[in-house]
Amino acid sequence: MLAIDLVGKRALVAGVADDSGYGFAIAKQLAQAGATVCVGTWPPAVRIFSSLLGRGKLDKSRAMPGGNKLEFERIYPLDAAYDRMDEVPEDVRRSKRYRDHGDFTITGLVERLVADFGAQPLDIVVHAIANGPEVTRPLLETSRAGYLSAVSVSAYSMVALVSRLGPILRPPGAFLSLTYLAGERVFPGYGGGMSSAKAALESDTRTLAFEAGRAFGARVNTISAGPLASRAASALGIIDEIIEYARISSPLANAVQAEQIARAAAFLVSPLASAITGTTLYVDNGYHVMGKGMPAHR
Ligand code: NAD
Repeated sequence: MLAIDLVGKRALVAGVADDSGYGFAIAKQLAQAGATVCVGTWPPAVRIFSSLLGRGKLDKSRAMPGGNKLEFERIYPLDAAYDRMDEVPEDVRRSKRYRDHGDFTITGLVERLVADFGAQPLDIVVHAIANGPEVTRPLLETSRAGYLSAVSVSAYSMVALVSRLGPILRPPGAFLSLTYLAGERVFPGYGGGMSSAKAALESDTRTLAFEAGRAFGARVNTISAGPLASRAASALGIIDEIIEYARISSPLANAVQAEQIARAAAFLVSPLASAITGTTLYVDNGYHVMGKGMPAHR
């Protein structure tokens, strides 16, 4: 039987702070395929996420077939807006939400992984991070700071993860990110430079595939996922409308489920996809091929 087999592999999923988003769903599928999973969590969310896990509040979502439960080998504090501690503004470093976390930058993450597991601790890296502080503002009303923040956290962070984690990946490593059709088509309401960030992320996927392939023997892909009412997407204020429009307009007239994206993710980072790199894989019930929406009753 042909199966996705990730036994013996260790994955880092960056961008998990609850059980509602794509990062959590992907972590679960990777674990189901046999991988051990570490997560990177935004520092202000680490305490609440650990507490939810500790109090059993996520046990239902963590349940896997066969009676197993999704376990996280480590929860690393990670603010993907920063590569090194000397870039972190003093007020952030000293704030209650950050000060007890040590080095929460991408450099700190690399150092912790090596200290915990040795020189080449990882096989798989999933980037499931996005944030645009002005996401509800049209592009025309987006400030320079808001735009650059969206692109820094949601796109440059992938470049930084590939460049800094590439050297500590066991070849053939696999990187994966998550993008959205708003990087290619117009989605009124997906503003603040987030559409620009997704366009950058998709373009960078191709360039990084070439450069990381040559430098580290690693693959780099992105999944263009259909809409999901995650915590981040709920900040848009119109995610239910987007989901319903996609549902009635897609060739497969269903709302996508996080598990469907997660299974495609498990395939893409697995040896079954060993010759796939630089690609944007649409996992959206075919919505991206449509040129016209459908009335609700058809
Ligand atoms: P989510 O809320 O589960 O994930 C976003 C994560 O990013 C959160 O855990 C948040 O804490 C983290 N984060 C934000 N700023 C950070 C920072 N500076 N440093 C580190 N972590 C930070 O929501 P999601 O929608 O599942 O998002 C995961 C990925 O999927 C994102 O790239 C998103 O754009 C993408 N995506 C989502 C949808 C959707 O409709 N939900 C569709 C297509 C693509």
